[in-house]
Amino acid sequence: MARRQFRGGFKPVAALLCDPMGEQSTDGRAGDRSRTLLQRASRVIPGGVNSPVRAFASVGGDPPFVTKAEGAYLHTEDGAKLIDYVGTWGPALLGHARPEVIEAVVKAARDGLSFGAATSAEAEFAELVTSMVPSLNGGMLRMVNSGTEATMSALRLARGFTGRAKIVKMDGGYHGHADVLLVAAGSGAATLGIPGSAGVPDSVVADTLLLPFNDVEALEAMCTAQGDALAAIIVEPIAGNMGVIPPDEGYLERMRALCDKHGIVLIFDEVMTGFRVAKGGAQERYGVTPDLTCLGKIVGGGMPVGAYGGRRDIMEKIAPLGPVYQAGTLSGNPLGVAAGLATLQLIEQDPPYEALERSAARLFDGLSQSAAKAGVALTGNRVGAMFTGFFQDGAVHNYEDAKRSNTERFGQFHQEMLARGVYLAPSQFEAAFVSTAHDDSIIDTTLAAADEAFAAIARNA
Ligand code: PMP
Repeated sequence: MARRQFRGGFKPVAALLCDPMGEQSTDGRAGDRSRTLLQRASRVIPGGVNSPVRAFASVGGDPPFVTKAEGAYLHTEDGAKLIDYVGTWGPALLGHARPEVIEAVVKAARDGLSFGAATSAEAEFAELVTSMVPSLNGGMLRMVNSGTEATMSALRLARGFTGRAKIVKMDGGYHGHADVLLVAAGSGAATLGIPGSAGVPDSVVADTLLLPFNDVEALEAMCTAQGDALAAIIVEPIAGNMGVIPPDEGYLERMRALCDKHGIVLIFDEVMTGFRVAKGGAQERYGVTPDLTCLGKIVGGGMPVGAYGGRRDIMEKIAPLGPVYQAGTLSGNPLGVAAGLATLQLIEQDPPYEALERSAARLFDGLSQSAAKAGVALTGNRVGAMFTGFFQDGAVHNYEDAKRSNTERFGQFHQEMLARGVYLAPSQFEAAFVSTAHDDSIIDTTLAAADEAFAAIARNA
């Protein structure tokens, strides 16, 4: 794959602000060590990475290899210390390596990594999660090991519950890589320009229908035409994998009403938004309650955990209570449960959402001003501590809008920021995540870097 090389000079203001002692570099671009490691990894791992977006294919340059993370920072093999807005793709709401979470995991590890048998911690975890997320109140939760497993299992359950086959997803919506959902998917699939995926037979996705996000008329038309044949509508209530796109006013409410009318199971995929935009996720924020909710990322506090849950009458269809099969050797393992519990307890004890709102708004507004000052077209969408700046003029309400962004410019911006010590998700169609560890001075440093980065790409335009 052709990679653009970064060029262009700059003054390392970020370096001065970030590291007054000058001991650690803030140039996060892959250096000799990372490049050598990429070559080594690429011989035995496809693309050298275990998830495609990590390869930096759409932004150019090679990915820096990471040695450790703490608070708001990532450290690289090349000796750089970077301000991180990827947050391990969402889980790091409370910053990386939060001591309480690490301690809980270490303590659990001493008693064994996995039993494949029931534990009290799993009950405590399910009690806490069902108390926090509105659609789970009075309902049930099943733990799995990833967001992909959560959505895949929730869909099977919806089909088993309704006895119907058809499911609906949004154009540009990403719910993990289960075959049945790998149609017009966002995230890595959007970045790489793969419309679906090789290896997914037409027959497997024949019952997967597509709707444009935020299009009430298309939704109504589909429900009128075949609502009674639909098992489920699965939606990210705030789209996060075509870049961040909030639901238009009334959109989720209408979806809820149509699902009620036609007996369709409404599934909110809150793998990204759960515990991020509010304690109870997007459903709390917008006051719309789905039948089933899928969780991942923050719910596992950085460990590989997913979960799905909701209405008791639906959840009772899962084995061993009911006929819908779903299982997992490592599901509910002590380490995942410990990390998730510790994280959610910290959130419950001291809800971080007001502080996150304030710092994310300061960053987002600052970036918008910085782009405007440099004359770079940028449209932003933000909900709480997740946002995307799209490199274009028009408002972004759906995937079609998002695709009008200037991805080449985004790539330049990404490299300019990385060179100044700021690590952003390496794709235009991803969210930036702010954590509680991103304090005012870190955000100021980021904004100083952005001022220079926007000015540089304006010069190169
Ligand atoms: N759903 C959403 C909304 C996601 O953002 C993601 C991952 N980014 C997934 C599902 C899949 O989760 P995982 O990568 O843990 O399988």
